[in-house]
This record gives sequence, structure tokens and C-alpha cells, in this order.
Amino acid sequence: MDLNAVTDVLRPCGRAELPIACEGDAVLGGGTWLFSEPQPAIRRLIDLAGFGWEPLRTGADGLTLSATCTIAELNGLEAPSEWRAAFLIRECCRAFLASFKIWNMATVGGNICLALPAGPMISLAAALEGEGVLWAPEGTERRVRIADFVRGPREVALALGEVLRAVHLPAEALRRRAAFRRASLTPLGRSGVLLIGTRGEEGDFALTVTASTRRPVQLVFPAMPISGELAAQLAAAIPDALYYDDMHGRPDWRRHMTHLLAQEIRDELSEPGEGRA
Ligand SMILES: Cc1cc2nc3c(=O)[nH]c(=O)nc-3n(C[C@H](O)[C@H](O)[C@H](O)COP(=O)(O)OP(=O)(O)OC[C@H]3O[C@@H](n4cnc5c(N)ncnc54)[C@H](O)[C@@H]3O)c2cc1C
Repeated sequence: MDLNAVTDVLRPCGRAELPIACEGDAVLGGGTWLFSEPQPAIRRLIDLAGFGWEPLRTGADGLTLSATCTIAELNGLEAPSEWRAAFLIRECCRAFLASFKIWNMATVGGNICLALPAGPMISLAAALEGEGVLWAPEGTERRVRIADFVRGPREVALALGEVLRAVHLPAEALRRRAAFRRASLTPLGRSGVLLIGTRGEEGDFALTVTASTRRPVQLVFPAMPISGELAAQLAAAIPDALYYDDMHGRPDWRRHMTHLLAQEIRDELSEPGEGRA
């Protein structure tokens, strides 16, 4: 779609070329959302493509994804075998039910900054203790957990002019055992519920709830909880008003499925296992 209100498109090639932020600016990732609907308030696009960032890098400390890494590039990653949770990467890419055209354009940063509850890169990064690197306009940088960065539908912790530069997933999180569950109202529908559980060597358990809730919700236990404790903690952490309501699922269905899938994950990760749970 043509964005008729846009008068300038800037393509900085280095950090010093990032413009002073103005109302009406929008950072352009892959543009799959920006160009999908009218944007009457946007006057200027700041296109990140000119930076030419390396899409992703693996190292002893984990996986670093540039904000401009596309879903297709991430899906193609060959992860080290000791990263037992790496199968989540493909699960989350596939939770993004879109054509190859979207997969080749949509970026990790755009998915996170758009902050739709069904954003699968939010699910992945929140569950794997991902940390976002934010560039501020005055040249400083700050880091924030992705689980905290996404505050609600279309709401993130970005100040005017800030850009999400990268997301880092630590190796310790990638080495954990993991289990994935997703539910949608239709076979090819958008995620209505997406839960990821991970378990550490010490037996600690983390459950991350996304898609069913307005923002990511994470529960952390020092040991695997019994079924009743998990249900009680879920009920306490997610009041009814926090369940999301849109055409992809009613809150009561999302609550029911969240509890059901959480128990499945609990059962799965209670079993002894080496690799994928
Ligand atoms: C068929 C189809 C299916 C889709 N399915 C899903 C789905 O299942 N789940 C889902 O969440 N979305 C879905 N989308 C919406 C959208 O395509 C994705 O969220 C996509 O990941 C957005 O990424 P992008 O790079 O194209 O973002 P853009 O459209 O470029 O930007 C999205 C928003 O993020 C901001 N932004 C982008 N990058 C940055 C950055 N680095 N720093 C700061 N702000 C930034 C932009 O200013 C804009 O507000 C779908 C879209 C289509 C057309």
C-alpha cells in the first residue's frame, strides 16, 4: 500500500546518520506491517536496511540477532547441538503463518516492536531470556529484557527516537530443555495461545505465556511445581483482564487453553530427558 502521508525516507548507513527524532517518524524494518495498512500519522520513514547489519551471530555466549534479521534467515540457522532449546527457533518461525514473501521481508525487530500478542519472536525471545539492545538518539545504549520490553498490544518500552538494534539470547537459556505448545482457532490461524516451558540442569522450571495474554507473562519455579501449584500460580499471575480478546480467540477459551497447555508442558518436562523434551 502507498503511504501517502510520507514525505521523506531516510536510509542511514551508520549510527551518526540517525536523524534527530520527530513526531511522525517510524522506523522501517521489513515493512510487512507498515505497508499493510494506512499510516496517516507517519511523515518520515527511517529505513534500517542501510546499516547492513550481519543478520545473526552464534558464539560461546549465545545467539545475537540483529533487529533486521528476517524470519527466513533465522529459520535457516544451524544451531550448535548443545543448544537443546534451539528447536524453539523453528517452532516460533512456523508459528508465523505467512507466505514466503512475508518470511523473507519481516524482521525479528519489527515483529517485537509491533508487539502483537501473537508475535512469535516475542514468544521466543521472552522464553529464552532474550535481552534487547536499544540505541538512543543521543548515542547511548541500554538493555532491556524482551519479557519487560513488550508492555501490551502495540505497546513497547521504546522512547521517541529509540531503535531496537539487536536481541541477544544467552547460551545458558539455549542449553535448557524446552517444550512448546501452541493453539489456534483454525489450522492455519494466528496463534491464540503460545506457551514455552524450559527446565535447567538444577531442575528449575520457567513457563512463558504469550499470545493468550496482552503481554508476555513468565512464571519461574526453583523446582517443578505440582499440578495444583502451577494452576494456582497461573491464576494469580494472569487475572481475567490480562487475557487478550480479539478475533483469534475469546478470553475464556484462551484461559482454558493456557491452563491445559501449561499442564502438558509441566508433564513433559517432568520426564527425564536429554534433548528435546
Ligand atoms: C499474512 C501476514 C501474516 C502475519 N502474521 C503475523 C503473526 O502471526 N504474528 C505477528 O506478530 N505478526 C504477523 N503479521 C504482521 C507483521 O507482518 C509481522 O509482525 C512482522 O514481523 C513485522 O515485521 P516487519 O519487519 O515487517 O515490521 P515493520 O512493518 O517494518 O514495522 C512494524 C513496527 O515496528 C517498528 N519497528 C520495526 N523495526 C524496528 C526497530 N528495529 N526498532 C524500533 N522500531 C521498529 C515500526 O516502526 C512499526 O511500528 C503478519 C502479516 C501478514 C501480512
